[in-house]
Amino acid sequence: MATTISSNLTRPEPQALKSAIDALAARFGNRLVTSQAVREQHAHTTTWLAAQPPDAVVMAQETADIQDVVRICARHGVPVIAFGTGTSLEGQVNAPAGGVCIDLRDMNKVLEVHAEDLDCVIQPGVTRKALNEYLRDQGLFFPIDPGADASLGGMTSTRASGTNAVRYGTMRENVLALKVVRGDGEIITTGTRAKKSSAGYDLTHLFVGAEGTLGIISELTIRLRGIPDTIAAAACSFETVRGACQATILAIQTGIPVARIELLNAEQVKACNSYSKLSLPETPLLLLEFHGSEVEVAEQSKNFRDIAAECGGGDFSWTTKPEDRTKLWQARHDAYWSVKAIRPGASVGVVATDVCVPISRLADCVTETEDDLKRLNLLSPIVGHVGDGNFHCSLLCDVEDKDEMARGEEFMHRLVERAQAMGGTCTGEHGIGQGKQKYLKAELGPEALDAMRALKRALDPQNIFNPGKIVPAA
Ligand SMILES: Cc1cc2nc3c(=O)[nH]c(=O)nc-3n(C[C@H](O)[C@H](O)[C@H](O)COP(=O)(O)OP(=O)(O)OC[C@H]3O[C@@H](n4cnc5c(N)ncnc54)[C@H](O)[C@@H]3O)c2cc1C
Repeated sequence: MATTISSNLTRPEPQALKSAIDALAARFGNRLVTSQAVREQHAHTTTWLAAQPPDAVVMAQETADIQDVVRICARHGVPVIAFGTGTSLEGQVNAPAGGVCIDLRDMNKVLEVHAEDLDCVIQPGVTRKALNEYLRDQGLFFPIDPGADASLGGMTSTRASGTNAVRYGTMRENVLALKVVRGDGEIITTGTRAKKSSAGYDLTHLFVGAEGTLGIISELTIRLRGIPDTIAAAACSFETVRGACQATILAIQTGIPVARIELLNAEQVKACNSYSKLSLPETPLLLLEFHGSEVEVAEQSKNFRDIAAECGGGDFSWTTKPEDRTKLWQARHDAYWSVKAIRPGASVGVVATDVCVPISRLADCVTETEDDLKRLNLLSPIVGHVGDGNFHCSLLCDVEDKDEMARGEEFMHRLVERAQAMGGTCTGEHGIGQGKQKYLKAELGPEALDAMRALKRALDPQNIFNPGKIVPAA
């Protein structure tokens, strides 16, 4: 008998699951894996959300593999969960109703590069670092850079961004077209290589951020950029976090086309210095990057330096040396791990918050958040893509310490309420998954959730695609 877990979550009948796994075994042989270790690796592993492993994992190598897995799962009413590199932070890859995980890492080919049109066509398992390695000799790069070396299929499905989003946008602005396997195994083509289109409903952006709940992406067409003539990175220290945020707000409002502007509060700088062997000044800090011609970069950094001086900015060091820039940004990308290293221990977990507010409210939101951490006696370094009004608190809590966990939960609720009250969102780039479902109604209202449920029913009538994610149970 199928087990109803909630209004949008049903565990399939054991016999139906067995039939599906037998059919998959016949089709995929040893590319179907049911060992406990491999199933656990394909559950959520990045934060303190409980891991919920799938019943089986299929290693896909081509689009036909995805189509056949979907058809077999649809026939038996078994959930199917796409897996990129498993770095998502809100339980997106968990299998609360069991089912089959499709691991897409072997679908990692770059199919076409159209340098003259600044786009390329790739398989979903290509990771951001592998893509840029592939493109380097052609003078091209793909700018979206989440801290983890994630897959482009996963980044598209979480509407990811990163340190370059302030200049180049998020995945939303950089995906031109998708091929998506739908519930009956047929393929939807959502767009073309045209840079813009008004051809019908915008299906491409419906699947960007859908977290694998509406279909499985089997191919992507994405925008590329030319590698800038001059790239300069800079670090600027501030007396206060409010000063650093004010400088960011003015830089954005005055239109300095910064490529990257990242905030680290003093605690985060300490963690990065210790983990990445740096010696940055342990005060609130902005890490910046400027792109353009030599003249443009010099002008941008001079304009920023003037603004910083008005906002209590001190030391301003900059470099165009690639090795120095790489070291600085690797440290930034390792911020999450540097926090984990502060309080090692099996029961100590990290959870990354992800609010994003209108730029003018950034300073208020960050400083009120720091005050709340002090009031609740919680350790949580802050780092953020502040040019977008987006910042992360990497909250460290001992999951066995009930009092600390309760203070942690209270802190996260208050932070989301604060951001939403300022016209912002509970998630700037990490997505909803399981962890943020409870905030969606307050943010968008019941009508929006009804519209999302209607879309889900229309595109996934059997509710097999990553069930139990994004839209909370009615
Ligand atoms: C240290 C660290 C730093 C991070 N920094 C950032 C950051 O700066 N910015 C940011 O945005 N995120 C960041 N993240 C979160 C994470 O990297 C992103 O959410 C990323 O987009 C996930 O990609 P993935 O390939 O790991 O996807 P997975 O975690 O494997 O999957 C994510 C979701 O996408 C779905 N999915 C995967 N592939 C497909 C497909 N082909 N078709 C349909 N659905 C699919 C899955 O079912 C799941 O719902 C960070 C994570 C870590 C651990």
